[in-house]
Amino acid sequence: MGRRVLTCPQCGSPDLYYEAGMITGKKYHCKRCDYIGAFVIEIEEEDE
Ligand SMILES: [Zn+2]
Repeated sequence: MGRRVLTCPQCGSPDLYYEAGMITGKKYHCKRCDYIGAFVIEIEEEDE
């Protein structure tokens, strides 16, 4: 079993934090490139 990691579609960084929008709904904010959007890449990472 792996755990899911969300990564930024622009820079590939996993350094995303969730931002709750009021009207627009949920979205994510990338700390690295300042990408903001609802679309993120979800990958599976295996635990060691
Ligand atoms: Zn990014």
